[in-house]
Parts: sequence; structure tokens; C-alpha cells
Amino acid sequence: MKSWAVAALDLLYPALCPVCSTPLGAGRRDPLCAACWDAIPRIDPPFCDACGVPFTTLAPFTTVTPRAHGSAGLCGPCRTEPPVWDYARAAARYEGPLRDALHAFKFEKRRALARPLADLVLEQCGADLAAAVDALVPVPLGRARERERGFNQAQLITERLAATLGRRAKPGWLARVRATASQSDLGADERRANVRDAFVASASVAGRHVVVVDDVLTTGATAAECCRALRRAGARAVGVLSVARVV
Ligand SMILES: [Zn+2]
Ligand SMILES: [Zn+2]
Repeated sequence: MKSWAVAALDLLYPALCPVCSTPLGAGRRDPLCAACWDAIPRIDPPFCDACGVPFTTLAPFTTVTPRAHGSAGLCGPCRTEPPVWDYARAAARYEGPLRDALHAFKFEKRRALARPLADLVLEQCGADLAAAVDALVPVPLGRARERERGFNQAQLITERLAATLGRRAKPGWLARVRATASQSDLGADERRANVRDAFVASASVAGRHVVVVDDVLTTGATAAECCRALRRAGARAVGVLSVARVV
């Protein structure tokens, strides 16, 4: 459409931001408005090399082990018990407009939000992504949950990420093999038990570098279980990317 036609349509039917309901103006990251996009609380270095948790929020409880070449080292929990993944990164904190955007994406089924959410991951974590990544794999939803929602939010983000990065999205490489209770009301130990052995990876992952993609990392129990399944199937390297993490 010609730009004047778009401008005329915007005047007649202004597109509204799904988070704050103001008309989208300059600097918009469709369908997010510029103000919401700018207010997303991004995670910048320094963060833990292994799990990506920002160090600023943990101080003074965390002792950082400095490593060479700008590496920030490991947080306390990762030094005590090394995570199953090789690296995990999240673009921003699960707070403010990002929390609202993810809510609108999943529960109000605003699928168009996959675009700015994936772009956020690319902007914050894209440079860290090894060139050797073979494929991106979304955390699978339970069948009943996906039927009820009509889509898997992690898959929409994965597809957008893969297309932009020129990598393959392989949702078929990871399957949920048993139903699990919702994680939201569970504590960390219960979450781990709830998802134990819930996933199986395809033999196609053998020898490959696979990145698991999710919308929100809370305790990391689900992502860790996905990584365990990928390792069992012989993946060479396993990473985790998420839009948001609970800090
Ligand atoms: Zn807004
Ligand atoms: Zn860590």
C-alpha cells in the first residue's frame, strides 16, 4: 500500500498498542507503541555466563568469578551446580510492559506480538548466538494447552527468530511425551519433579548445536528438562533463549 494510504487508514482507524491502548505513532514496533517498546527492562551485561541472570540484582549475595576477555563469570547457583545447558540468555526482565505484552500475546491471542518479541531477543542476544547453531526448537506445549490456545507462543517466536537469523526452526525435534500440571503454582523443586522426563528429542539432533526457545524463563526447570532430552539424544551443544526471565 502507498504510504499516504497507510497514513489515511491510520487516521481513520488508529492501530492501538495492545499493552497501553494508545494509538501507535512514530517509533512504533508494531504492534507495540514506542513508549512500551522503550520501557521494556532489558538485561544487559554483566550477567552469568551460564544462566544469563543479571548480576546487578544478585549483589551483594553473589560472588563473581571473573574470567578473561570480558566474561562475567558464573553466579553462585551455577558454580554449585553447573546447568545442563551450555548457555542460557534472556532478553529482558519479566516486568512492566514486557509482562503485559507476553500476557496479551498468550492469553488475548495477539499473535502479531511474536514479531517485536523475537526482535527483542535478536537485539539483546543475537550477537551472542554462535554461528554454529544448527536449529532452533520451541519448548513444546501440552497438546490440550495448545488446542485451547490455538498456537504455541514459543513456536511463533522461534519461527520469526529462525527466519531472521537464516537458521532452521525444528519444532518436530522436541516432543512433550506426557501431560504436566501447570508450573505456575509450584515451587522450584515441585517444578523440577513436574516436568521430569516430560520431553523426548528426535534422533535428528545427534551431533548438532540446538537452541531451545521459550517465552518466559522462571526457574528454568522446563528449559533444563528440554535440554536434558536433547543431550540424551546426542545433541553436541545446547543453548536456551527466552524473551523474558523472572529475576
Ligand atoms: Zn504501548
Ligand atoms: Zn548462573
